[in-house]
Amino acid sequence: MGCGCHHDLHDGKAIVDHVKRKGKENEKPLVEHQISCQCGTVFTFEKVVMNCPECGMTYAVTPCSSDNIENIKPAGIRYA
Ligand SMILES: [Zn+2]
Repeated sequence: MGCGCHHDLHDGKAIVDHVKRKGKENEKPLVEHQISCQCGTVFTFEKVVMNCPECGMTYAVTPCSSDNIENIKPAGIRYA
């Protein structure tokens, strides 16, 4: 895809930084997963960088690995 995200990014903060650097933080993921947040809220993951609507925890995934929910990582409260 030429988006430069084939290296393994396992840290949420690194994913946010990478996706933002590419200007892709508002892209839609390949699949709109349901995220079960640590706070107990379930929300729809509509963008590759998104905050939980309840606690503000930032979740992030690279666009080309966003088909797998396992790749979505928490980055910290309101990190994005
Ligand atoms: Zn939450």
